[in-house]
Amino acid sequence: MVSADEKKLLDSVPDGLFIGGQWRSAASGQTFDVNDPATGEVIKSIADASADEAVQALDAAVATADDWASTPARQRGEVLRRTFELVQQRKDDIALLMTLEMGKPLKESVAEVTYGGEFLRWFGEEAVRITGRYGANPEGNGRMIVSKQPVGPCYLITPWNFPLAMATRKIAPALAAGCTVVVKPASLTPLTTSYVVSLLAEAGLPDGVVNVITSTSSSAVSKPILADPRLRKLSFTGSTEVGRTLIAQAADNVLRTSMELGGNAPFVIFEDADLDAAVEGAMLAKFRNVGQACTAANRFIVHSSVAEEFTARVTEKVAAMKIGRGTEDGVQIGPLIDDDAVDKAVRLIGDAVDKGATVATGGQRIDRPGTFVQPTVVSGVRSGADIWREEIFGPVLAVATFDAEAEAVRLANDTEFGLVGYVYTRDLARGQRMIERLQTGMMGLNVGVISNAAAPFGGVKQSGLGREGGFEGIEEYLSTKYTMTPNPFS
Ligand code: NAP
Repeated sequence: MVSADEKKLLDSVPDGLFIGGQWRSAASGQTFDVNDPATGEVIKSIADASADEAVQALDAAVATADDWASTPARQRGEVLRRTFELVQQRKDDIALLMTLEMGKPLKESVAEVTYGGEFLRWFGEEAVRITGRYGANPEGNGRMIVSKQPVGPCYLITPWNFPLAMATRKIAPALAAGCTVVVKPASLTPLTTSYVVSLLAEAGLPDGVVNVITSTSSSAVSKPILADPRLRKLSFTGSTEVGRTLIAQAADNVLRTSMELGGNAPFVIFEDADLDAAVEGAMLAKFRNVGQACTAANRFIVHSSVAEEFTARVTEKVAAMKIGRGTEDGVQIGPLIDDDAVDKAVRLIGDAVDKGATVATGGQRIDRPGTFVQPTVVSGVRSGADIWREEIFGPVLAVATFDAEAEAVRLANDTEFGLVGYVYTRDLARGQRMIERLQTGMMGLNVGVISNAAAPFGGVKQSGLGREGGFEGIEEYLSTKYTMTPNPFS
């Protein structure tokens, strides 16, 4: 049951579409429900946008694009900085809101407010560091000016698993670069985005610079925006399957795209690893966000000499994890996002067992309201199992073994994904070889969590295109312009 305090917070979240600086209901009067996945209870109903309203949101972003692009970078940065400060002041409310609509343990939501808020601060600082260059051409008869310009109106589509961070990781660099945006959060978790956008408005963001459409018809609202020649950029975070569809739609207008897609991270533990650190890193890399992270370790590839001990130690920890609604004290495992996620986790465990694996702990849906699955360890997984190929997106730790470094590399790279890889070894040269050999956009060497606003986040292969965060993140929203002028001395 939603408590009185939780209800008060939920009542304070805007329930409309945000277009041209105004919160408004859908013209159709249609709304849709947002649920608490820990109980199945409806916690709020919000506006369900039509395709026409999606285009109106783009109209607003287009109308204000020139003004925002010519707003001094310092002013753009200061709006982001003030929003960062508001996020810090409302940290507890934002964390609770995320736990209510998405289910993760409150402690993890607090950590996401820190991480997600940091993009506002980082890109607020980066806004004033957009530079160019000037120099002579090699022939000496001309001068080259290279400058950066905002790409123009952007469409930002975000997933449900990190409701704050996935929004700020796109909105902040776009605004810092001088772009206006339409944001479409996931229909399962729209509340945090609406709340943080209300903070941007409170921080002085001009009307129309950020617009929000919430909808149950993601394809219907996205198609007219993507088909509109006034749109200049699509940034998407979500599954590889949807990403492929959107890349195809973006091709018609040759849109700039950034794609942060699925992962299937290997977590390689060598025989010389510090096993205490590897166990600790494994618990974080696997069970953070109840396993629902694109960076979640999906395949534990463990040297056969330490596999038994590693499996026994993680099994003991996993069996003792506290399960419950994320608001309860000490909870480590909240619900999965919905029934489909539970069915997928249970299916993958069953398939692995059918193909020779053993369940060391867990393995079942939990018989209680909400969408809970037992935290699970499966050992002896074979590479033909579906759990080896598919993103689990649940609290299931799957272990396979290897004997030689080359075999570990082959197993780690045996996937179409390439987001992140984790390696535990005390041998520095081996660690460096793994950095060079693993086909991923990111690596954790003897650490289980890598995300940081100052780092370039993103994948290779079918995990995506482009980078978010770091110095690279703002470049996704800038075009490079080259101008030739004569040699002023000739
Ligand atoms: P998803 O089903 O692909 O949905 C992502 C977003 O796309 C949601 O807003 C969704 O709206 C929207 N969407 C779905 N179909 C669409 C369509 N045809 N046209 C336009 N928009 C559409 O992914 P998810 O289940 O929310 O998120 C989990 C996935 O995201 C995982 O694969 C995970 O690895 C990936 N992810 C990647 C990163 C990264 O940085 N690489 C970070 C986080 C998550 P609705 O919700 O309304 O359908």
